[in-house]
Amino acid sequence: MTPPMTKDEIILANKEFLFPAVFHFYKEPMVVARAKDQYVWDADGNQYLDFFGGIVTVSVGHCNSQVNAKVHQQIDTLQHVSTVFPNEPQAALAKKIASLTPGGQLTKSFFTNSGTEANETAIMTARCYTGNTEIVALRHSYHGRSAMAMTLTGQGAWRLGPAQAGIVHAHNAYCYRCPFGLTYPSCEVKCAQDLEELVRTTTSGRLAGFIGEPIQGVGGFVTPPKEYFKIIEGIVRNYGGIFISDEVQTGWGRTGGKWFGIEQYGVIPDILTSAKGLGNGAPIGVTVAKPEVADSVKGLTISTFGGNPVATTAAKAVIDFIEEKNLMANCAEVGGYLRAGLEDLKEKHELIGDVRGMGLMQAIELVEDRKSKTPATAATAQLMEAARENRLLIGKGGMFGNVIRLSPPMNIARTDVDQFLTLLDKSLAACAAVAAGSSR
Ligand code: PMP
Repeated sequence: MTPPMTKDEIILANKEFLFPAVFHFYKEPMVVARAKDQYVWDADGNQYLDFFGGIVTVSVGHCNSQVNAKVHQQIDTLQHVSTVFPNEPQAALAKKIASLTPGGQLTKSFFTNSGTEANETAIMTARCYTGNTEIVALRHSYHGRSAMAMTLTGQGAWRLGPAQAGIVHAHNAYCYRCPFGLTYPSCEVKCAQDLEELVRTTTSGRLAGFIGEPIQGVGGFVTPPKEYFKIIEGIVRNYGGIFISDEVQTGWGRTGGKWFGIEQYGVIPDILTSAKGLGNGAPIGVTVAKPEVADSVKGLTISTFGGNPVATTAAKAVIDFIEEKNLMANCAEVGGYLRAGLEDLKEKHELIGDVRGMGLMQAIELVEDRKSKTPATAATAQLMEAARENRLLIGKGGMFGNVIRLSPPMNIARTDVDQFLTLLDKSLAACAAVAAGSSR
């Protein structure tokens, strides 16, 4: 039998045999060996509190026992048939999702393996339904890594290839760094109103649709004011387009009190996409549409792994767990507690310029000084390292790499938040000490 690889062998094999473009957070990559609930262990046996959840994906805790029991049973019963054959796990999940969507109006699903594919399907569907081709996406967005999804993405760093035609980018609602230099609410949400000008000047005026994340994930948890998406929706519909909500990060209760992030804004989308937290680590993507929109896709389509019985069993078990444990309420309650703790840390640490987010999707944006708001990119990288030293996993993001993203499992308790705040405080203090040392 081949002996297990050592930590160094794993790191070396990563360097030699994987694409170097694969992104890591730390100076020295961290090899993860195992995980359970809100904890992760590295290859040296160190235990970490996980407040990033494998990029906003571990919704109900690592290796959730209730979910995995069902997965084990399914994998020994029926592992794969492809979308060519109906099967119970897929049917049961589709039926369940239809009962949860905004206004109960999105009732038809198409399953894939990732958020990228879910968004590909959504754009294709919007084009079929409207007969138009042009799409509006948002600056600072992230929608995936296919050629089309990279074009939808509004961050240069994540666009590796040439852009595709027919996609333009509107202003996001980045209040902390308002593109118009205005302040909410006296701004009258100009960033949303500006869409009219964008459509009239850079498109034919015949839109297939708009795609946006209710809270921009990779973009640094940019959280628009409450009026933003209603204004966007009005303009998009006026020009013939439909509304697509990318809920890859914001779905399944994470924003607190509602199943989907867009419900916080009172908009009923025509199409909703998701992935990540739906499977708690099982690879699954879904595009859910209003029936007339789904029915407009004529011809043939197939996805070999889409609706895979094991992945759909996992997803159904995740949703059942969220319902049983009332995690939407927990996200609101414990999320509010986390938010208050972060606001307190802002009082104490000058480095924190902004605190934002909803539910258990919260972020802090780090700045060199609060007046100039110069992004503290180097200090953010330092904070990541300090948190690792303190056995805490947190995420990083934003256009300038200066936003700390927090998205722990949705079933954490206040005591986990207390532990997290202590570790983050300690890590921030370590960064401040380094900064003071270097300025001497
Ligand atoms: N949309 C959003 C909002 C995302 O955050 C991501 C992944 N970070 C994607 C789409 C793409 O999902 P995947 O990586 O599963 O293809």
